[in-house]
Amino acid sequence: MFQGLLIDRHEGQQTAAVTALDDAALPEGEVTVRVAWSTLNYKDALAITGRSPVVRRFPMVPGIDFAGTVESSADPRYAVGDRVVLNGWGVGEVHWGGLAERARVPGRWLIPLQAPFTLRQAMGIGTAGYTAALCVLALERHGLTPAQGPVLVTGAAGGVGSVAVALLARRGYEVAAVTGRVQEADFLTRLGARQIIDRAEFAQPGKPLEKERWAGAVDVAGGQVLANVCAAMRYRGTVAACGLAAGMAWPASVAPFILRGVTLAGVDSVMVPTADRLLAWQRLADDLDPALLESLLREISLEQAITVAPELLAGQVRGRVVVRIGGEH
Ligand code: NDP
Repeated sequence: MFQGLLIDRHEGQQTAAVTALDDAALPEGEVTVRVAWSTLNYKDALAITGRSPVVRRFPMVPGIDFAGTVESSADPRYAVGDRVVLNGWGVGEVHWGGLAERARVPGRWLIPLQAPFTLRQAMGIGTAGYTAALCVLALERHGLTPAQGPVLVTGAAGGVGSVAVALLARRGYEVAAVTGRVQEADFLTRLGARQIIDRAEFAQPGKPLEKERWAGAVDVAGGQVLANVCAAMRYRGTVAACGLAAGMAWPASVAPFILRGVTLAGVDSVMVPTADRLLAWQRLADDLDPALLESLLREISLEQAITVAPELLAGQVRGRVVVRIGGEH
């Protein structure tokens, strides 16, 4: 038996509780992992609160990522004692996830823990941080360099946003951070933001084309925010869009794309091929200062994941939330 957070649904009512789970109930997979750390991502908060249909099979252990140690393996790539990391692949949505002491997954979903990170640091980064790295790589794939001009990051005080600010600043980009929490200006400046912009400036419908300001953008918001970001992109600028914190629907015009050659680069973290995952983790290893990472972290217990989830959806959580499970470093 092992402890895990279990979500269940009866007659339309969702429950979430930490409970004892049977090993026999673990899903199929070649590798069983003793989970040391997991995290609370936006999607996990949606799953735990039931606010969006993230979970597609019940009962479900949520947690779209985990880091831990291999307990048993029928995959030749992994041996007992290896330290591994998982992000995405539908874990915590259709396959039992990381918010439990034990997880079982197909070996091809795992990657080895990347140097120089500890298991705790890997989950301090978590899917949010790894997505931030995917966004930066997407911008660069479309030709962005620091010389081209400032780069905007929305939701900058959140998980994806804070890591994106840090990664971009470290590469020499001039970063403008959009936040609804201007009281976090010092925090964002420490991460490397040169300019702090109130989110309210992006909340109202604007013109199809605004003054050209941004050479690149990482957007976690979607909705009206993304429409306004696109309208203010410089000629041939690129927006990496990964989130929907402001909404799924997107009231935009095609003007930035057909008149300014702006590129909208979609970023998904769930089904990314392993080679690209390793590139993103390499970028994190190269550019994310461990001391800065530590300053982003709030550590909570498995039980607290249930109460912190609504706080995260309310935009009250700064940086990243790491969940202590087994708790090794
Ligand atoms: P967090 O909750 O940590 O951060 C989201 C941030 O967005 C908030 O902290 C807040 O930042 C900002 N925000 C909240 N509400 C609004 C709003 N109405 N308008 C504009 N900004 C808002 O979540 P994560 O960083 O973990 O995830 C961010 C988004 O990215 C989510 O939508 C998530 O689903 C998505 N995501 C997508 C992935 C993918 O594979 N495509 C992977 C990971 C995340 P502030 O207070 O600074 O304004």
